[in-house]
Amino acid sequence: MENCNQVFDVIVIGAGVMGSATAYQTAKRGLKTLLLEQFEFLHHRGSSHGESTAIRAFYSKDYYCSMVLESSRLWEEAEAEIGYMVYFKTNHLDIGPPDCNFFQTTIDSCRKNSIPVRVLDRNEVVEEFSGNFQLPEGWIGVVTPYGGVIKANTAVAMFQTLGVQNGALLKDNTEVVCIKKDYGGGGDIVVSTSGGDRFRSRKCVITAGPWTRKLIETERGKALPIQPLETAAYYWKINEGHEEKFAIENGFPTFDSHGEPRVYGTPAMEFPGLIKIVIDGGGACEPDERTWAAAEPGLLDTMREWVKGRFGGLVDGDEPVIMHSCICSMTPDGDYVIDYLGGEFAEDVVVAGGFSRHGFKMAPLVGQVAAELVSGGMAKGVDLSHFSIARFG
Ligand SMILES: Cc1cc2nc3c(=O)[nH]c(=O)nc-3n(C[C@H](O)[C@H](O)[C@H](O)COP(=O)(O)OP(=O)(O)OC[C@H]3O[C@@H](n4cnc5c(N)ncnc54)[C@H](O)[C@@H]3O)c2cc1C
Repeated sequence: MENCNQVFDVIVIGAGVMGSATAYQTAKRGLKTLLLEQFEFLHHRGSSHGESTAIRAFYSKDYYCSMVLESSRLWEEAEAEIGYMVYFKTNHLDIGPPDCNFFQTTIDSCRKNSIPVRVLDRNEVVEEFSGNFQLPEGWIGVVTPYGGVIKANTAVAMFQTLGVQNGALLKDNTEVVCIKKDYGGGGDIVVSTSGGDRFRSRKCVITAGPWTRKLIETERGKALPIQPLETAAYYWKINEGHEEKFAIENGFPTFDSHGEPRVYGTPAMEFPGLIKIVIDGGGACEPDERTWAAAEPGLLDTMREWVKGRFGGLVDGDEPVIMHSCICSMTPDGDYVIDYLGGEFAEDVVVAGGFSRHGFKMAPLVGQVAAELVSGGMAKGVDLSHFSIARFG
């Protein structure tokens, strides 16, 4: 059924954190906005669900450092508008062997962006973090500000609420199956759904997460190399008597451990007495054919060893107590895709996807950039050449 009684300025497809932040930003600019989601809002089948996600400014590619600074400001702006907090600050700690190239390039990136960096030796890490981290001989720690925990589900709900408050229309259980240009209808975009509805708009933003490749393949006959990866986050029990040491309010940092394996985590917060630890890895998947399985046994063994090695005696490294399955969308170079779709859609359709397991923290900025692009403007302060579709050839 053609819902042609109104033409939207922009239709946003996909209500994960990126689509929700985009709908908020477009509505805030006075654009008549429709946000469509294939499942129910706040479902658990994409990338953005979960209790927590980490923010850090410690990036080896310096353009991400400045993006984090701007995104932090935008998180606070959204919090002020909604009236509650989703972003809880703490320091960020990176640990690893000092010969790890990553450290020097990342320290340089931070300094270039005026982000204070403190390099600590093994003993200083022990002292600064009350003996929580046990580092191998020779390892170093690097402490930076702008770490913290973002309450993921609450943040997505916040952007959706702000979208509605600013006049956006939100529809869930509405799967988009086709996006076309209507050349007879003034070049409008016509978005069709599996339920037989059709919606018209001047512009469209695709924020379909792990479904981006599928949706765009259908439209362009050309795949973007965005590979969905099924992975999981694990919560581990802090041993009795040590819980306070891992609490965010007591200064426990968000952290990344470099070298092999790459492991990262957040302080105890959403589940008191538990700490979230995630290991890089996972298996390629189709988002509609999930196994929902825990990490392959080898990966879990590696995690056990890591937990026992770094937190031995303080955290029970035998078995995680909670496992959250999740999909991320990987690009070959780990950089995002934020660009016009091009082809017959030219600059009428924007794609924001492929966030490669490090996108959540940037959501307010991605929403702002997408809104600027569909408003015919330039993305202020973000060099989009790093995120172009053309880089894939
Ligand atoms: C284990 C794990 C840990 C992570 N940790 C961090 C971290 O610490 N810090 C960080 O910054 N990032 C982290 N990330 C990455 C972050 O979660 C993602 O970058 C971010 O959530 C991507 O959001 P999205 O909106 O692009 O995708 P999604 O949340 O998947 O949203 C896409 C939405 O589009 C909808 N959709 C798809 N196709 C259609 C269609 N045809 N019609 C209608 N709707 C459609 C989907 O149903 C979905 O709701 C992590 C990811 C994982 C998996």
